[in-house]
Amino acid sequence: MSAPLVSVRGLRRTYGRGRTRVHALRDAEFDVAPGELVAVVGRSGSGKTTLLNVVGGLDRPDDGTVTVAGTEVTGLDDDGLARLRRDVVAYVFQTFGLIPVLSAAENVGVPLRLRGLPTAERERRVALLLRLVGLEEHAGQRPAELSGGQQQRVAIARALAGSPRLLLADEPTGQLDSETGLAVMALLRALVESEGVTAIVATHDPVLIALADRALHIEDGRLVGP
Ligand code: ADP
Ligand code: MG
Repeated sequence: MSAPLVSVRGLRRTYGRGRTRVHALRDAEFDVAPGELVAVVGRSGSGKTTLLNVVGGLDRPDDGTVTVAGTEVTGLDDDGLARLRRDVVAYVFQTFGLIPVLSAAENVGVPLRLRGLPTAERERRVALLLRLVGLEEHAGQRPAELSGGQQQRVAIARALAGSPRLLLADEPTGQLDSETGLAVMALLRALVESEGVTAIVATHDPVLIALADRALHIEDGRLVGP
């Protein structure tokens, strides 16, 4: 088997202290192979967001290590984490997180601007991505002029713009009706294959789990057997 893209060991994250102390992650350990789509499944409050944030370097654990594409995320300083988020890891959030005053195309182009890609190249890449998510006809529309499912497809295109190695999606279908949610998850599934990206998707929707290669179940901050 090839080396894992993601390797998590002994991860602990605690919030608060004393009687209000919450163990959001307790000794989480797992590997994700390159090209895998792994679902993180658990009810609300079980630690899914904490896990994704620590893996993506948005949050620091109290203990344990995370390695992504050969880089020990847990050993990076703030500059290193910023580079990781620009070049290696991309996020898709439940609430889409698009910039309201920018068009769909401009939103998708944001990570490419951050990388200083020349305009012509950026426009080519944006057009390709909008086509991949089936929104080429909506390039000029702002988020408020798009449906929820369309907004999430823009967010997915934006996440993939910089060709990340790892896509982290935190309940990406949580705000969508079940049919649209299924379509968005199927799109993620297809893009993981075609773009050669690895993905970790938090969800509590059992229908979506079927589209993953594998599910990690989390209860009270602890990964439990299937
Ligand atoms: P999920 O995404 O599965 O709903 P979270 O990772 O958001 O779970 O939360 C796990 C636990 O950690 C919950 O008990 C939650 O209340 C707690 N928690 C999350 N973030 C914070 C925070 N910033 N401060 C205190 N407690 C938090
Ligand atoms: Mg959450």
